[in-house]
Amino acid sequence: MSEIKTRFAPSPTGFMHIGNLRTALYSYLVSKSQGGKFVLRIEDTDQVRHVEGAEDVILNTLKMTGIDYDEGPYIQSERLDIYKEYADKLIQSGHAYYCFCTPERLESLKDDKGIGGYDGHCRYLSKSQVEKNLADGIPYVIRQKMPNEGSTSYYDKVYGRVSIDNVELRDQILIKADGYPTYNFCHVVDDHLMGITHVVRGNEYLTSTPKYCLLYDAFGWERPTYVHLPLLMGKDADGNVSKLSKRHGAVSFQDLINDGYLPEAIVNYIALLGWCPKDTNQEFFTMDELKKSFSLEGLSKSPAVFDYEKLKWFNSEYIKKMPDEDYNKIILPILENLCPEYINIEKLAVLLHGRIAVFSEVKEKIEFILSRLDMDSSLYINKKNKTTLELCSQILNESLPLLENLENWDNDSLFALLKEYSASSGIKAGAVMWAVRIAVARQSITPGGATELMEVFGKNESIERIKLAVSEFNA
Ligand code: GLU
Repeated sequence: MSEIKTRFAPSPTGFMHIGNLRTALYSYLVSKSQGGKFVLRIEDTDQVRHVEGAEDVILNTLKMTGIDYDEGPYIQSERLDIYKEYADKLIQSGHAYYCFCTPERLESLKDDKGIGGYDGHCRYLSKSQVEKNLADGIPYVIRQKMPNEGSTSYYDKVYGRVSIDNVELRDQILIKADGYPTYNFCHVVDDHLMGITHVVRGNEYLTSTPKYCLLYDAFGWERPTYVHLPLLMGKDADGNVSKLSKRHGAVSFQDLINDGYLPEAIVNYIALLGWCPKDTNQEFFTMDELKKSFSLEGLSKSPAVFDYEKLKWFNSEYIKKMPDEDYNKIILPILENLCPEYINIEKLAVLLHGRIAVFSEVKEKIEFILSRLDMDSSLYINKKNKTTLELCSQILNESLPLLENLENWDNDSLFALLKEYSASSGIKAGAVMWAVRIAVARQSITPGGATELMEVFGKNESIERIKLAVSEFNA
């Protein structure tokens, strides 16, 4: 078998929908799992929809996700001569024809609902009429001549046999009046010229693919293997599912990155949205592992539902496993931006590692550090540590002067001091730690214990918070 070659052929829309990214990933993996090549092609022949800077979004996304291409990017708008040349070949071989119908005539073919296709009018123009029209400079499109009978079918790797009656096929446009090719035409020419063996793409093309097959046949080219991927769905509020869109949450790769997700976690999660590894329950995959494990047989045709909670879970696991150096590169600038100067952000970063699912929730997680929350004194009462309001008040009053006298404000010294106070006062260490932690944090669940938090706050803020707590007891 010849070498596998796949491609990703996005239109530059200005953002990378997660579904498109999954297509890119699967296409890449189909090739790489079999030692093949991967091509990037920018499909920008729809000039009306062209968005400035959109190519960069595609290139950046592929770079960040580690989907690297061996060839390209090919830019379709730079290949117009090629498409024209191949359209001419089809005219010469009788598989395509010039159509001079005016927009008004085409409009008149539509019914009340605006539906209606082309009636094949120009298919039957005489050669001399065509030549005259061309010589007169009458605008034209080039259309594909579809068979009037029989059916066209192909075998899709995911969906199986797909068949369509040829009478249902309209004589589709290959080259538009402005000289630009349609997607329907140029992607076929490109896929052939670029040696693409497997066309991997979204299933919105499943039923139009017979038309593309007819183009391959008309040229006498070997058809590629088709791999259409099921839609990505989102969960609606009412429990139903529908095509993944903005109302379900962030749908572009860039939005997810802005929300604090890691590219590796996104790739890992979307790899499993429609593909499942064989003989293993493995959930975590690096790109290299995906390349090894991926196989076409593991693809499913049932629509995959994008679950934001699951992605969040993947992300939290990836953050946990991140080496400190990489983690710090992300978290420290965030903390620096949020925290007042006296906060020890290096220590805070350590406390947060493993406790955040996405970087965008850091602010919310450290709200109690950024401001002194309203105190709910019932938090002092803890069954396990047998703390009461009276006991906590005593602990805070007695430990305050000790803390004020402490010189080395680090976790070990703070811990030693409170342990010593516990021993000398006869109050259980757990109770001491509880009272102090509640006094400085002013909330019950915290990343880190009393002494770790005091180290993060620094001496001044810790003392101020304990003083505040003492005054609240006395009030
Ligand atoms: N440009 C098309 C799209 O973005 C590509 C479809 C294909 O892969 O053939 O939908």
